[in-house]
Amino acid sequence: MDINKDNKVGESKGALERQLYFIEKCREYIKNITEEIGRPLYACVQTFGCQMNARDSEKLLGILKEIGYQETDKEEEADFVLYNTCTVRENANLRVYGRLGQLRNVKKKNPYMLIAMCGCMMQEPDVVEKIRKSYKFVDVIFGTFNIFQLAELMYNRFTSGSQVIDIWDNTKEVVEELPTSRKYPFKSGVNIMYGCNNFCTYCIVPYVRGREKSREPKEIVREIEKLVSDGVKEVMLLGQNVNSYGKTLDYEFTFAQLLGEIAKIEGLERIRFMTPHPKDLSDELIYAIRDNSKVCNHIHLPLQSGSSRLLKLMNRNYTKEQYLSLVDKIRKEIPDISITTDIIVGFPGETEEDFQDTLDVVRTAKYDSAYTFIYSKRTGTPAAKMENQVPEDIVKDRFNRLLETVSQVSHSHIKRYEGKELDVLVEDVDDHDASYVTGRMTNNILVHFKADRSVIGKVVKVHLDECKGFYYMGTIV
Ligand code: SF4
Repeated sequence: MDINKDNKVGESKGALERQLYFIEKCREYIKNITEEIGRPLYACVQTFGCQMNARDSEKLLGILKEIGYQETDKEEEADFVLYNTCTVRENANLRVYGRLGQLRNVKKKNPYMLIAMCGCMMQEPDVVEKIRKSYKFVDVIFGTFNIFQLAELMYNRFTSGSQVIDIWDNTKEVVEELPTSRKYPFKSGVNIMYGCNNFCTYCIVPYVRGREKSREPKEIVREIEKLVSDGVKEVMLLGQNVNSYGKTLDYEFTFAQLLGEIAKIEGLERIRFMTPHPKDLSDELIYAIRDNSKVCNHIHLPLQSGSSRLLKLMNRNYTKEQYLSLVDKIRKEIPDISITTDIIVGFPGETEEDFQDTLDVVRTAKYDSAYTFIYSKRTGTPAAKMENQVPEDIVKDRFNRLLETVSQVSHSHIKRYEGKELDVLVEDVDDHDASYVTGRMTNNILVHFKADRSVIGKVVKVHLDECKGFYYMGTIV
């Protein structure tokens, strides 16, 4: 399959030109204001939720800087505050309303201040209605599908003076070539697809991120080539279920093939991806990870529950046995793979027996770490209507036992690297001691070691002196 052949469904040039036009219009507008008030204008983007939201926020900040705002992380100092919201958990919404209330008072003191909201929470019609009615001081409201339209929506607000609401119900257009402002110059997330068709019964994502849609491989490769020429060494390929990549293209092309194409890019050193679903992780993908040295030896493989009975109620489409045999197959082909996971405790109807199945998988699969969650009832999901919601004290007890088991198993398994010398991509100065830096090995495990900040963004060899549970202390070689 020649990915460079000009296929029908590409990314929309017209939409790109249109947004570049509005970026220009906004730039003029902002320039006049700054001259008028004799100071720069500041923008603050607050990101809630997942890596896809973090990647979207980099694009939003890129547009805001392009039109003339300077970045600040302090809402009270900002002239433009943007909340990129998440709605996976019910209480996330409540927290956002609380913060909006405080922001209202800040806005009263700054006549140049605008407030905008986007992200998954805005894809819920009752939320938008509530903001339209009760939070009239919010100026711009848009969703997850038209992130790229920020400049156009802001220009409408500047020129109309009234609240602008524009929510799309699916990915009508893909515009990925607008300016972005990356948190890390040496690594970047890259969306390879949007939406999810899996409808796990506890999850709101398919209702707010829509149906799966894969980007054209050539557009993805082109974006990564541009990132690499801009200094990026590591990319994180993002999709709710990357295994489904390619299914909406009008020709046969799989995620494993995409990995192969991306691995050909000169100058790119590391490829990561998030998230493969255990129900359809193919042998082809396992071989692609095994055979491409640039593809990192780490797989995040969400389990959610170890009980086949609960997995059925969750609509996860695999059983405990199928999950464990997949882990076996991966470990057989890639012996030094690092596997991490997500686990939910307290799903409706969960019995002690179900929970014991989860602990059994944790002991057998030998994860290097696990994200553990207490089930959160999410209105709008099938699970929220299920009987037998598990009492809080039982859930808390199980959650603590799960944490204990995860750390016991992970700590002993993660120790296997002690004394080795491995490559680390240095990410930042250590939070606790500025004479140390922090970085990640290809297995995604963190290492802290003494070094000058000049190694940030570089891949250096580190001797792993001591395992400290989920991370290592090391010495640069
Ligand atoms: S795979 Fe399931 S949990 Fe993941 S985003 Fe899709 S519906 Fe949600």
